[in-house]
Amino acid sequence: MEKVRLQKFMADAGVASRRKSEELIAEGHVKVNNKVVTEMGIKVDHSDKVEVDGMPLETEKKRYILMYKPRGVISAVKDDKGRKVVTDLLEEDVQERVYPIGRLDYDTSGLLLLTNDGEFANHLMHPRYHVDKTYVAKIEGILETEEIKKLESGIKFKDYTTSRAKVRVMSKDKKKNSSIVRITIHEGHNHQVKNMFDAVGHKVEKLARENYGFLTLDGLVSGKYRDLTRQEVAQLK
Ligand code: URA
Repeated sequence: MEKVRLQKFMADAGVASRRKSEELIAEGHVKVNNKVVTEMGIKVDHSDKVEVDGMPLETEKKRYILMYKPRGVISAVKDDKGRKVVTDLLEEDVQERVYPIGRLDYDTSGLLLLTNDGEFANHLMHPRYHVDKTYVAKIEGILETEEIKKLESGIKFKDYTTSRAKVRVMSKDKKKNSSIVRITIHEGHNHQVKNMFDAVGHKVEKLARENYGFLTLDGLVSGKYRDLTRQEVAQLK
């Protein structure tokens, strides 16, 4: 590994963003090879011992995983209630301590990214770099044109207003009083899709994420995963 600036090394290890890592360095929280370092210029690699508040950083190979999350699994690395978590689905080929980037609800299936690259995760979660995400929702009732317009033009919640949504009704079942709708959203707030449909009077009965930016679930079945290619990682950065 090529030597990199200390703040990047820390961000890559998931300590904090680069900016926050710089603050930690400036405030004297960081030691390199047993010496407190407060200036920014220093470069390090895995052969250096880097500690933050006395805790050594463990750095490992970067992994970027695209998983087809099944319903009934928590998007976390552990669950207080002992329910199955997404990292339980990883096999022996993944020894690195990856964690999900954002989350899908327990009852939502579909495309979920996992990584141990803190900087990459922070980047994708940052509002400025959000990528479009497409979901297929089975909702209660028949979606009216007015409601589609509202969904697409922006729903105002207490903490945020949605933008750039695209909605397409795939099918309607008047007898069962339900519709299948494809919706593309830009942000990634908790329960965003369910809350958006709730806001126009429709309960989401089933939800699946089909796309994350240019990424799809092609070639994967529920519960399985693959590594992103270098090119895919570079494209997301
Ligand atoms: N929106 C939701 O409501 N749930 C998800 O799991 C993802 C997006």
